[in-house]
Amino acid sequence: MLRQLGAGAKLLAGGQSLVPLLKLRFASPEHLVDLNFVSGTSFIQENGGTLRVGPMTRHAEIENSSLARTIPMLRDCAAGIADVQIRNRGTIGGSLAEADPSGDWANALLTLETTIHCMGPNGRRAIALNDFVKDAYTTALAHEELVSEVEVKVPPRGSGGAYLAFKRSAPVYPSASVAVQLTMTGDVCQHVAIGLGCVGLTAIRATDAEAQLWGKELNEKTIAAASEAARAAGDPQPDMRGSAEYKRQLIAALVRRAIGIAARRARGEQVEGAHLYA
Ligand SMILES: Cc1cc2nc3c(=O)[nH]c(=O)nc-3n(C[C@H](O)[C@H](O)[C@H](O)COP(=O)(O)OP(=O)(O)OC[C@H]3O[C@@H](n4cnc5c(N)ncnc54)[C@H](O)[C@@H]3O)c2cc1C
Repeated sequence: MLRQLGAGAKLLAGGQSLVPLLKLRFASPEHLVDLNFVSGTSFIQENGGTLRVGPMTRHAEIENSSLARTIPMLRDCAAGIADVQIRNRGTIGGSLAEADPSGDWANALLTLETTIHCMGPNGRRAIALNDFVKDAYTTALAHEELVSEVEVKVPPRGSGGAYLAFKRSAPVYPSASVAVQLTMTGDVCQHVAIGLGCVGLTAIRATDAEAQLWGKELNEKTIAAASEAARAAGDPQPDMRGSAEYKRQLIAALVRRAIGIAARRARGEQVEGAHLYA
């Protein structure tokens, strides 16, 4: 249908980004191709150490899925997106395709091994998330292509992750967000990925912060070093949510807190990780 209808057509998923744009007249597509009528596009499956999530899977379905809980960060992320009405409509595929710089999914999934499966009239292709998000509101998708599946590798035993966002209230995007994924052997960090949101045009990996933890014992000193390195990462812009310095402070505090939760989860503890509201 996208090919038939041409450039004036747009896909509609949960409508939680697109409909506000239509209402404000920032977008005026000639046609909407409604994915809500396409069966078999909402699912969460585990298969050989990989979680497969359908593009039309709602944030609320992920929040409440026992399978998704095998990767605790997924629940952290889904459960804190906006409010319950938006979580009941908004989809993971729509969120990734929208590539909003403040969106939660891209940041959380950046710290996991995530592949975006796409399909269109010319066939299918698989794109690593890192290559899928190109810029603010820009992805590798061609006009006639859609996200057909989100594939996430389940981290190995001894791993733990946490996703924390700081928000002024529930139905707004975060002021800053942090994702931390660790694999531990005893107290030593064997693998670490740290993602930062709202400090640039896309979510970014805080590689200098990660370097403070790789192959090292997790203790107050190494966690403080990682949090300081994260503070310096990215390029937060001042806006109604706070000054650049305020956002750097938030990032440093969230990284410290998320490392603590991720490490406890890696040790097998059940820890609730919730977004923080001002
Ligand atoms: C008040 C409010 C607060 C919000 N707060 C947050 C928040 O805190 N964190 C957060 O992450 N998000 C937030 N959102 C956004 C919400 O998560 C959306 O659900 C999400 O960004 C878009 O998903 P959707 O399914 O609604 O997509 P839609 O709005 O239907 O579509 C968004 C875009 O993606 C395209 N698209 C949709 N599905 C596909 C597909 N399968 N393949 C290719 N292209 C596709 C559409 O054509 C459109 O361009 C908020 C939204 C609102 C209205």
